[in-house]
Amino acid sequence: MMKRRVWILSVFALLTGLAFFTAAGDVAPGTVKQIVPGVWFREGEIQTLGHCNNAIIEMKDYLIVVDANFPSGARLAMEAARKVSQKPVKYVFDTHHHGDHAYGNPLWTQAGATTLAYKGVTEEMQRYEPKRWQQTAKERKDVAELGLATAEPPKQTFDTSPFIIKDDTREVRFYFFGWAHTRGDGFVYLPREKVLCSGDAAVNGPYNYAGDGNIGNWPKVLASAQKLDVVHVLPGHGGPGGKEVLEGQSRFMSELYRAVESQVRQGKKLDDIVKKEGDKLVSTSIRLPDNVKNWVGDDLPTQVRDAYEEITQHRPIGDLPH
Ligand SMILES: [Zn+2]
Ligand SMILES: [Zn+2]
Repeated sequence: MMKRRVWILSVFALLTGLAFFTAAGDVAPGTVKQIVPGVWFREGEIQTLGHCNNAIIEMKDYLIVVDANFPSGARLAMEAARKVSQKPVKYVFDTHHHGDHAYGNPLWTQAGATTLAYKGVTEEMQRYEPKRWQQTAKERKDVAELGLATAEPPKQTFDTSPFIIKDDTREVRFYFFGWAHTRGDGFVYLPREKVLCSGDAAVNGPYNYAGDGNIGNWPKVLASAQKLDVVHVLPGHGGPGGKEVLEGQSRFMSELYRAVESQVRQGKKLDDIVKKEGDKLVSTSIRLPDNVKNWVGDDLPTQVRDAYEEITQHRPIGDLPH
């Protein structure tokens, strides 16, 4: 027993040693990693600061940043951009309207960049703001400090997909494939480098908020993304990966939908499948297969509730009052 413990400790020490030596190349919250020449990924501090990830894309004369982040995350992304290149940030692409991706917009505008998004991002802001901005300002100093009454919509929008920006060195395509995480989900794709930034339509870990989403349609949106020739997936949250991030996220949504649907068919009510303590959903009887466990976290009971409402009310959960 003792021997076994010593062995485990030595292996642990060896692994931590290895982790130390490879740390420079690894990605962790707050670090920046080059994915391919001229494309960097900054992993956001989701757990501690609520930040999303950022990608920095180098063009011939300027940079494109993917996601404005929260104001405090915007400052960190600006710092990262200055470190990797002397070129100015010309465009900042909001993958969707959520605060952790778009509330930093005013900072980028002040810095001389043009915020850009699919038109659905502006429409979502019209739907949910200024309520969410004002609520967030009560909880986050970086938002309150801006002294603004509401979120700043992207300065430039497009409504035909893909919208393409290119120069001699690179082509960047901005896609809208439909309603998954929000009605404004934008993807950024570099066809030559086979890099895809997926926003929160595909995250790498248990970071999905489905409340503004369309769970039934989600896998169809990802199926469009999966048709692209992709090697690197840079998600809105969690570490970078490959196509398996798209596959896993899609499978998670399908399995969630299917599991809840089967309970509904058996005549189960919401109270039969999720347990509440006060207003909080604390657990669920729904079990999803092991191959999607990377996406299963504390929010599962809420996601089950969202799927239940979507299925029983025959409307996307994001289209129901919330
Ligand atoms: Zn989001
Ligand atoms: Zn997010």
